[in-house]
Amino acid sequence: PDATTSTPVAKVSQYACQRRTTTANSNKIFTDAFEVLAESYEFNEMEGQSLAFRRAASVLRSLPSKIQSLRDAESLPFLGKHSIAVIEEILQCGFSMEVQKILSNERFKTLKLFMSVFGVGLKTAEKWYRKGLLSFTRGLFPTGFLHYGDISRAVSKAEAQALGNIIDETVHAITSDALLTLTGGFRRGKDFGHDVDFIVTTPEMGKEEHLLTAVIESLKHQGLILYCDYRASTFDMSRLPNHKFDAMDHFAKCFLILRLDGSRVEGGLCGAEGDGRGWRAVRVDLVSPPMKQYAFTLLGWTGSKQFERDLRRFAQKERHMLLDNHALYDKTKRELLAATTEQDIFAHLGLQYIEPCQRNA
Ligand code: ATP
Ligand code: MN
Ligand code: MN
Repeated sequence: PDATTSTPVAKVSQYACQRRTTTANSNKIFTDAFEVLAESYEFNEMEGQSLAFRRAASVLRSLPSKIQSLRDAESLPFLGKHSIAVIEEILQCGFSMEVQKILSNERFKTLKLFMSVFGVGLKTAEKWYRKGLLSFTRGLFPTGFLHYGDISRAVSKAEAQALGNIIDETVHAITSDALLTLTGGFRRGKDFGHDVDFIVTTPEMGKEEHLLTAVIESLKHQGLILYCDYRASTFDMSRLPNHKFDAMDHFAKCFLILRLDGSRVEGGLCGAEGDGRGWRAVRVDLVSPPMKQYAFTLLGWTGSKQFERDLRRFAQKERHMLLDNHALYDKTKRELLAATTEQDIFAHLGLQYIEPCQRNA
């Protein structure tokens, strides 16, 4: 082949933490299809296949341009026979028959609807489905239905900003040296999210949990709390990091539904102003790690989920280390590695630093 016409393609890493993935996804037509397949496998408890499609989607999201032919896809990591066949079908006719079939499947549609309710996972959705509940009946599931319309609507950047201001005022009225950080999808530069995630902490050792409960109390007094699920800390420094991604972290946290007034939002509320209420309900997560664990929590809560999974997999497989939201443990040296910034953690792992806006894996 003529060396002047063939462009050398940089090898794509099998780890999302060695790829730079912005929110600009050139391969949405393929990744949307893969996510449907991943979800469908998940609903059928075929975790291996589900993860395979999530990984394949994540690889495609990191590519700088759209896949034009099968040749572009064949050498990529995690693109197996099945995902290649789906790409081929989409390249040929613009859609995948298999995905269309799933999207019109009664069980799939129903489980997806049930799981869109805050607090409802696959187990509950399955149970309801088996009972023959094909759609919601008001009053049947009071907790999940709390503000269902509002919280199933996306949160805008301006709304996230307004909530940040409210929580910032609240936190600093309690302790002037408190630290509030926006994390989750909005820290990665997303324009919309399903919730808003914050880390709240204080340099005063051991006071962070008290700070969180004081914040909740104050929000309550301001009449802003519509729902609060508070989880006390079960953090234990003597435990080694748990590299399994799905394990929840042990810091004090709360899953909230807050009332956000339109008057606080620059440019007004996102679509909800029409019904004349002038406010909307928004899902907010607050987590309070001790300052010493701040960097690990920030890295863990910034996401994306696929990025976090691969950070942990990389640490384990390539470095013989255990990483979670609390700590990084070197199994060879048998010691915990301290970090005050995310950069420290990437450096410990021997990884190039990846900016939050490049973690949309
Ligand atoms: P979205 O915009 O849809 O909210 P997101 O990336 O912010 O997307 P979240 O579900 O809010 O998604 O989660 C944010 C990050 O926090 C993820 O990386 C997730 O792994 C992490 N996370 C969320 N809940 C917990 C928890 N209880 N324990 C540990 N990590 C968590
Ligand atoms: Mn979020
Ligand atoms: Mn969240």
